[in-house]
Amino acid sequence: MDWNQSYRAFVLAVAQSPRFQALLRTRGRRLVRRFVAGDTLEEALRAVDALEQGGVHAILDLLGEMVTSEEQARKFQEELIGLVRALGGRAYPRYVSLKLSQLGLDISEDLAADLLEEVLAEAQQVDCFVRIDMEDSPRIDRVLKVYRQLREAGYTRLGVVLQSYLKRSERDLESLIPLGTPVRIVKGAYREPPEVAFQDKRLVDAQFLWLCKKSLENGLHTAIATHDPVLIEEMKRWVAERGVGRECFEFQMLYGVRPGEQRRLAQEGYTVRAYVPYGTDWYPYLSRRIAERPENLWFVARSLLQG
Ligand SMILES: Cc1cc2nc3c(=O)[nH]c(=O)nc-3n(C[C@H](O)[C@H](O)[C@H](O)COP(=O)(O)OP(=O)(O)OC[C@H]3O[C@@H](n4cnc5c(N)ncnc54)[C@H](O)[C@@H]3O)c2cc1C
Repeated sequence: MDWNQSYRAFVLAVAQSPRFQALLRTRGRRLVRRFVAGDTLEEALRAVDALEQGGVHAILDLLGEMVTSEEQARKFQEELIGLVRALGGRAYPRYVSLKLSQLGLDISEDLAADLLEEVLAEAQQVDCFVRIDMEDSPRIDRVLKVYRQLREAGYTRLGVVLQSYLKRSERDLESLIPLGTPVRIVKGAYREPPEVAFQDKRLVDAQFLWLCKKSLENGLHTAIATHDPVLIEEMKRWVAERGVGRECFEFQMLYGVRPGEQRRLAQEGYTVRAYVPYGTDWYPYLSRRIAERPENLWFVARSLLQG
C-alpha cells in the first residue's frame, strides 16, 4: 500500500469516530464553507450563478447518503424533485448528481429504482441531465442494475461513474459501451481493500487514462473528473492528437478545489463543470475530501483551532 492510500485509510477510519465527528460538526464551519456551497438550495444557486459568470457550469448535489428508512428516502426524493424544478427556471445547463443510497438502495433496489424514476420523469420535463454517483464497492452491482433497468425504460439523459482504483472498472466499462452510457471517470474516494482496488497510485492513474480513452474511442460521452494536472494535460494532448470533438467530453472538478484552473480550462474553450454540494448532511462528503489530500488536514487543524 503506498503512502497516499495509507493516509486515506487512516483519515476515513478516524472520521468514523463519534468524537471527531462531534468536533468537526461544532468547530468545522470554515472547512465546510470551503467545500460545501451552503445549507440551502438558494445558497447553492447563488454559488452556481458565480460559477457561470466565470464560464463554469454546475452539477448540483443535494448532500445525503446511506439512508436507513423509506421515510428518509422519500424526503430526499421530494427535495431532489424540488431541485430539478428550480433548475427548470434557470437559463444555464441543468445537471444533477445523486446517490442511490440516498434514495433507499440499502432498503431495497426496487424502492431506489422507483424513486429515481420519478426524479427522472421530472428531469426529462426540463431537460436536466442526471448522474448517478458511484459509492463503495459492495453497492456497485446494485447501482449498475438500477441504472440498466432505467436505461431500458428509455431514460437516456442518465449517466454513471466508474472509479479507476477498482480492478473491475475495465469490465464495467465494456458492459456499458453497447448501451451508449454517458460515463464519468474518477479515481475513487472510498476505503477499498486490495482484493478489489489498486493500492498503488501509479496503477490508479494509468487505469484512469485508459478508461477515459477507451470510453471516448467507443463514442461514450466522457466526463474527465480529476484535479490532477498531469492527467488533465495528457487528456488534452490525446484528444487533440486524435481529433476528438470537444462536444464528446468535458472536464469536471469539485466546488472549492482548483477554481482558477476550472475557469482557465473554460477560457480555453473546454466544457467545465464543478460539482456543487449543498445541504446539512455534509459530514461523509467532507471526510472524503479531507482524506484525499494531506494538505487538507492542515486546513482542518487550522479551522478547528480558529473555530
Ligand atoms: C466531479 C467529480 C465527481 C466525483 N464523483 C465521484 C463518485 O461518484 N464516486 C467516487 O468515488 N468519487 C467521486 N469523485 C472523487 C474522486 O474519486 C477523487 O476522490 C477526487 O476527485 C480526488 O482525486 P483527483 O483525481 O483529483 O486526484 P488526486 O490524486 O487526489 O490529486 C491529484 C493532484 O490533483 C491536484 N489537486 C488535488 N486536490 C487539490 C486541491 N485541493 N488543490 C490543489 N490541487 C489539488 C494536486 O496536484 C494533486 O497531486 C468525484 C470527483 C469529481 C471531481
